[in-house]
Amino acid sequence: MGFNKKVVEDALISCGRHCSLCHKFCGTKIELHHIKQKKDGGEDSFENCLPLCFDCHADVMQYNPQHPKGKKYTESELKRHRNSWYKKVKNSEGSVITNSNYLNLDKATFERLNKLLESKNLMYFIKQNGFVGGPFPDKIYLDIYRFLIECELPEFEFIDADLEGLKSELRQNLEKLYELILKHTFGAGPDRQSIPREWKMQQPERLDKAIEDFTKLTPIVSDNYETLIKLGRRKLYAN
Ligand SMILES: [Zn+2]
Repeated sequence: MGFNKKVVEDALISCGRHCSLCHKFCGTKIELHHIKQKKDGGEDSFENCLPLCFDCHADVMQYNPQHPKGKKYTESELKRHRNSWYKKVKNSEGSVITNSNYLNLDKATFERLNKLLESKNLMYFIKQNGFVGGPFPDKIYLDIYRFLIECELPEFEFIDADLEGLKSELRQNLEKLYELILKHTFGAGPDRQSIPREWKMQQPERLDKAIEDFTKLTPIVSDNYETLIKLGRRKLYAN
């Protein structure tokens, strides 16, 4: 037995099909987790149900008490995350944000996001996949890093659930991009970074892998960004 139809529907509507932990929009790729496991007496109830993306579900399930690594989510922590997300979804019902206080807060967040990402043509560089075209300025990855740090701040968050979901997806993919930069590029002269040129001769496979990784990820990041900007303009500035 699992959650019944009513619980499933209530949970999916309450979360707007976004993951309750990382907030990304999941569509059909969403799973319903028992906060208290059934073997521990957890019920198939709305209160015990937690909508999660595949990644966060794996993360919540993976913790092995025999080999503790990191900090396990507690049941009450999961519930608090979920409830605050449900509240956000409820507050942002409808495509237009009607509460003018929320609108102003979200406009400020949107402008801050734009300033962080648009400055020095960061997103243009990512769209062009400048990482594979030879040395690039350090400030590219420093700007990404700065954005990721800002995302840790509680006030850098959209009240609107759709916008926050898109921002969360963008953040996750920028995190992946940042990891690729650390993995595949090295200092190349003052304030520059590059995939090492010598890989072409010495480690062609490593070079191919680096190019492949960047080429796969950069269009996804650009796409996340453009979707967020378009929806933000529509939701925040259309009226
Ligand atoms: Zn998630």
